[in-house]
Amino acid sequence: MSIKVEDYYAPATFQKMKAFADQHETPFVVIDTNIISKAYDDLRAGFEFAKIYYAVKANPAVEIINLLKDKGSSFDIASIYELDKVMGCGVGPERISYGNTIKKARDVRYFYEKGVRLFATDSEADLRNIAKAAPGSKIYVRILTEGSTSADWPLSRKFGCQTDMAMDLLILAKQLGLVPYGISFHVGSQQRDIDVWDAAVAKVKVIFERLKEEDGIVLQMINMGGGFPANYITRTNSLETYAEEIIRFLKDDFGDELPEIILEPGRSLISNAGVLVSEVVLVARKSRTAVERWVYTDVGKFSGLIETMDEAIKFPIWTEKKGEMEEVVIAGPTCDSADIMYEHYKYGLPLNLASGDRLYWFSTGAYTTSYSAVEFNGFPPLKSFFL
Ligand SMILES: *Cc1c(COP(=O)(O)O)cnc(C)c1O
Repeated sequence: MSIKVEDYYAPATFQKMKAFADQHETPFVVIDTNIISKAYDDLRAGFEFAKIYYAVKANPAVEIINLLKDKGSSFDIASIYELDKVMGCGVGPERISYGNTIKKARDVRYFYEKGVRLFATDSEADLRNIAKAAPGSKIYVRILTEGSTSADWPLSRKFGCQTDMAMDLLILAKQLGLVPYGISFHVGSQQRDIDVWDAAVAKVKVIFERLKEEDGIVLQMINMGGGFPANYITRTNSLETYAEEIIRFLKDDFGDELPEIILEPGRSLISNAGVLVSEVVLVARKSRTAVERWVYTDVGKFSGLIETMDEAIKFPIWTEKKGEMEEVVIAGPTCDSADIMYEHYKYGLPLNLASGDRLYWFSTGAYTTSYSAVEFNGFPPLKSFFL
């Protein structure tokens, strides 16, 4: 398998990124913010009626927060630290949702004091905390969804609750003086099966109807989370196809009078805009007769590539060297044997690859720098540069 630049980047764009990269020592991620800007516009165009809340955890760089703030985005925030950072960029609390269902009561209070009035929940204990610490706020309940087998990075099990509990929580929210506002779900990140949204929207519809009929509660919002794709080795449908299909599911269930729709993209907005540039430290074989070569590079699981865990995300890797390819194991630089990125999925790299050659990891703008360890083996966190 050999990766072609033009399958991932416009040649001029890649040339610009590479020219910049040539001036800097590896490892780092170079991010072209024009690509983020276009991804945002494409999502806007695909879902004209939706409000976009950027999931800050994908990449919390101020360059990205500022860009998206100026484009009118709102923000999905998971901690008081992300809140401080985003508000520090001048984003008002009315553009913020506290989307983490796992939070301390004093952190809820902190958000409330900063003016945030939109909170996710999926448990009674959390809901009671919100009622005390953030009285009168709008509540949306996260439900469990299927789809963990077709998502490359599932977000299932840990978050969300069953339909019955979601209804109980929204009824309780009302009793506690909160505003039962809507339902959220996340079908799993890098979700390749669009039909998973169909099942999720159908569940939401049931909750909307039953709460209205049985309890007189009229919900107003559906938060459809993230899950939209980035361009990795395993190809996906285009964003337009996702949008067309998902809108059809919404209209099938809710007709033309859609409730307020929120999207929380992370990966799909940012990933494609970044190229991680690393250097080959060593190429080695484990015995005289071993067929397989090990390629050790100066970036690894602990410096931004944790999504290679279980080889879940398969980043396209490009190198300038051409010629005969051979299957390799690709591993990072640290003294931890978990620091192997790809061993089962066979990456091909040129036979003449040698120490000092550069590897270009495409679509690494999201979930890389934000995951990088601060000092494992003394290696500094993964840097990023913005064009
Ligand atoms: C991580 C996360 C997202 C972003 O998901 P992507 O698949 O990266 O788009 C959105 N919403 C919530 C609540 C999340 O935790």
